[in-house]
Amino acid sequence: GSLLSAEGLHKKYGATPALDGADFSIHPGEVVAVMGPSGSGKSTLLHCLAGIIRPDSGTVRYGPHLLTGLNDAQRSALRRTDFGFVFQFGQLVPELTCLENVALPLRLNGTKRKEAERQAREWLERLEVDTVGGQRPGEISGGQGQRVAVARALATRPRVIFADEPTGALDSLNGERVLTLLTDAARDTSAAVVLVTHESRVAAYSDREIVVRDGRVKDMLAGLI
Ligand code: ADP
Ligand code: ADP
Repeated sequence: GSLLSAEGLHKKYGATPALDGADFSIHPGEVVAVMGPSGSGKSTLLHCLAGIIRPDSGTVRYGPHLLTGLNDAQRSALRRTDFGFVFQFGQLVPELTCLENVALPLRLNGTKRKEAERQAREWLERLEVDTVGGQRPGEISGGQGQRVAVARALATRPRVIFADEPTGALDSLNGERVLTLLTDAARDTSAAVVLVTHESRVAAYSDREIVVRDGRVKDMLAGLI
């Protein structure tokens, strides 16, 4: 069955409709690219699926949980243990070293410091940025920063990874490397990836593409049949 699914999502910002009956589903280990023009509702869909915002109507289910029925505290607890996030600009904590940034979500989930740092070091190695572990985000390149952000997103072994234009700020070589590392690691851990992008080059890393238009979701394949 599906790991995460949504039905009939509606969301307005004032009078502006962002989602207008959006449906979605993803299986464990699946990488789904969410495409569509700017302003079509991709980010709003991602934020609803991840329980960051609540839709005006419609339901989001995650495993046995009705995500849209949980309160803010319950949703943020679930996000911390089960979801990982990568955004366009890594959003690392500038005061912490890269190693501490990756260890942070593990610490928040109750892992002891030594063990958290050991695991963080492994993820930095896996993402090929172990050499910057002692440096702060302001001292490294954009491509390195994004790899550290991916390491941080993967460190808690999330069941779902939400990536919103994860390579938008990178040149194509760095972008492709980050996407390869992200999707390989996700497949190895059977994590699902919701990959929001407006670039077809990025969507090539997915198993399935959907298109958001005017707040509704169209299956790419269904459109061709
Ligand atoms: P996309 O990610 O495809 O660019 P968004 O989900 O960001 O689309 O936006 C969908 C629509 O909702 C757009 O018209 C956008 O301007 C509007 N919107 C998104 N977030 C907000 C917000 N926080 N406040 C007001 N309008 C918003
Ligand atoms: P994206 O390219 O992913 O759609 P945006 O740059 O549109 O991202 O939006 C970045 C942030 O600003 C998001 O958190 C979104 O919800 C918010 N936002 C988008 N459009 C508006 C808007 N018209 N008014 C206020 N906030 C907005």
